Amino acid sequence: MNDPCPMTKYVIQLKKSDYEKILAHALNSLPNESCGLIAGNIDGAAKIIERVYTLSNLDESRQHFTIDPKEHLSAVKDMRACGISPLGNFHSHPDTPARPSEEDIRLAHDPSASYMILSLAEPEPVLRSFHIERGSASPEELSVVP
Ligand SMILES: [Zn+2]
Repeated sequence: MNDPCPMTKYVIQLKKSDYEKILAHALNSLPNESCGLIAGNIDGAAKIIERVYTLSNLDESRQHFTIDPKEHLSAVKDMRACGISPLGNFHSHPDTPARPSEEDIRLAHDPSASYMILSLAEPEPVLRSFHIERGSASPEELSVVP
């Protein structure tokens, strides 16, 4: 049986230097959560991240984040100037696994966005990406490329 309206399953492609930028931002923000935006291009079923914006967490909390709206706006302006599209966001979990919390799922309103979570709760950092729609999160394939 064919699904009459298949959801595209994206593969997220992240440059190693951008992964390192997300990780450094998370470590610098400890003990609090860090956050930011990802932007780039969609090529078929691949979301190619071209730029990562490390932004301030207004909540200054280790369990919540709110992206500074002014920084959000200037990141979006930069995306327009660079001819790239918003692809989603990321935040860190200093103490919990790399999966969306109930609150993360409740606050995720954009099914076209990728929600990336970096966990620092394990001996090694773990970065995962999720599609969140109608109250449920499904993992996306994430590949870190040189
Ligand atoms: Zn979270």
